[in-house]
Formats: sequence, C-alpha cells, structure tokens
Amino acid sequence: MVKAKSFLLATGLLLSLTLTLGEPSLPSFAEGEQYFLNNKVVSKEQYQAAILLQEGVKFLHANNNRDAVIKLKQAADLAPGFAEVHHNLGIALAKTGQVKEAISELELARNLNPNLDSSWMSLGGLYQTEGRIQDAITTYGEFVKRFPNHKDARKVSELILGLQKEASRESRVQSGGSLQDYYAEVTAHGRARWPSNKMPLKVFIAQGKSTPNFKPGSEDLLKQSFVDWQNASKGAVSFEFVDSEKNSDIQCTWTNDSSKFKNAAEAGETQLFSGKNGLVKGSIAFLTVPLMPDMPLTQNRLRLIFLHEIGHVIGMAGHTNNPKDAMFFSIDVADNWRDLTERDAATAIRLYLEP
Ligand SMILES: [Zn+2]
Repeated sequence: MVKAKSFLLATGLLLSLTLTLGEPSLPSFAEGEQYFLNNKVVSKEQYQAAILLQEGVKFLHANNNRDAVIKLKQAADLAPGFAEVHHNLGIALAKTGQVKEAISELELARNLNPNLDSSWMSLGGLYQTEGRIQDAITTYGEFVKRFPNHKDARKVSELILGLQKEASRESRVQSGGSLQDYYAEVTAHGRARWPSNKMPLKVFIAQGKSTPNFKPGSEDLLKQSFVDWQNASKGAVSFEFVDSEKNSDIQCTWTNDSSKFKNAAEAGETQLFSGKNGLVKGSIAFLTVPLMPDMPLTQNRLRLIFLHEIGHVIGMAGHTNNPKDAMFFSIDVADNWRDLTERDAATAIRLYLEP
C-alpha cells in the first residue's frame, strides 16, 4: 500500500493591527489670567483643549468611544493645531467604525507633528484595515525608519513582511472578478478541500483553561463558528465535535505565545495537510492574548478570528482585500459582532460544489 504523502499546504494568517493611544503627558495649569501647558505659556483655548483632551483619553481608556469623540471634537475646534488631539480623535473615530474620518485625523496629526510615533503606527493600522496595503507598508516602513528603538519596532517589521506577502498575492490575482463570491482570490495558490466521504469532519477542541489569558466560553463561541460555516455552506462541509484528539480531522489548540507562529504578528495559525484525494488533516492554534494592548481580545474579535481560521481549515488558503469578508487579511478596528455574509457562504459552496 502506498502511503499518501502529506505536505504543508497553507498557513493561516490574520495579521495583527497596530493601534495605540497617543498618551498626552501634558501637565497644564492656570495661574490668574495665564495658562500653561508643558511649562509653556499658551492661549486659553489651548489650555481648555488640553483639559478636554485628557477627558477624551479617559473615555478612550474606558472604551467609551462615543463620548471620547465628542470631547475630542470640542478640543479640535478650540485648538486646531494640536497634534495629540487629532491623533486621539482619529483613534476614537476608528473605534466607532468611522475609519475614513479617522484616517484624515491621523494624517493631520502626523503632518502637524511627525515625531509622534503612535500616529505613524495607528495610521499604518488603519490603512491596513481599509485594504490599502501599499499605504500601510510605506507608513509602517517610515515608522521603523524613524523610531528603530521603539518597543514595537520588531513587531511592526513582522507586519510589513506579512503585508508584502499580501501585496504580492494581490498583484497575481485579479480581484473583484466576481461580486457574488471570492473563490478566485482564496484559491489563487491552488484549491484544497476535504473529500465528501470524510463528512462530517471530526473536530477536536482542546481545553483552554490551562493556557494563560484563556477566556471561558471561547470553546462554545468556536463551536458556534464551525456550525455557522456548516449552515452557510448548506451542509456542503459539515462537522461533528469529538472528545478525543485521536482520529480527529481538525485539531484546535490555544497558545499565549505568538512567537511560535510563522509570523508573530498573527492572531491564529492554521496548518493544512493534503494527500492524494484532498485534505487529510488540519490544525488551528489560537492566540489567547491580544497582540496590541489597545486592541483587547473581545468576544467580537475572537469571533472574527474563529470565522477566519475556520475558513482556512475548510480549504480557503488565500485572503481577500475586502474588509467585509471573513477571509479579509486583517482584523477589524471596530469592535463589532460579525456574521458570515452571502459572499462568504457563496464562496464556501462554490469551493465544495465546483467539479
Ligand atoms: Zn488568514
């Protein structure tokens, strides 16, 4: 009997995103009719803007982004040339889902004060979530050049490598060929799928409670995400959950150490192995810690990561450049619940029904 040789087909991605609050360390005080900021005499408007900025940042830290937007807009009206105000307003807008407005604010902040490292990083992150890969690479590259000793410089360099990979994929695939699905994009490196006689696929989910930072309930959210793909594919791909790793087809594990991944800027990693008749084994490792402290791993973000990596494990090896797709290459800034779209469903169905 010839043993089918298995080989590594694809490794999962989902690049992390850099997003940092510009921490205003701006001691301000008033003495009679004189106003001071960082020991310099400033106008009354600038002084008031600094107070509003501090209030806005407090709201940001509390994840109360709508109130942060209000305070920071007031600050920007009072002192339009205040880079930190525009920076934090950009972050607050991004977190409420207003990404285009956020980009304008961050571009303004960077132009007003190019020495503000967090503006370069956050701007790169927002270009990334918009699918503007070249702009993200240029901006992250400028950050690394200007701030080589920054604590996140290595992580950002890893991000650049991942984005360059996306950019080369993009230049090979004519994206946007179909509005209904993104089959062409995710199969650009060849097609992989599980043979129909393997259904339902046996999924083993490891217990996560011994992994630091593991969030209770993650297993249920992960199971739900598998079931959602099954329903979206109208059963073309189906799963059953098993308690033993032995003889399972797909193994899901947890880790708090992204340095074990091929690219340390990723939130999950999927490996696929294929034999003569299609896929024979898949494994997914999920990260239990956020890659950036200002992007906490909420239920919503976990959900997106789960949907994305499951997409890989059913055979979608590639990525898309449309932020609404589960297989978009980057995580979202806005902390919103995601469901599979009709495009996601149509792609899964086509992957399994195409002869
Ligand atoms: Zn991916």
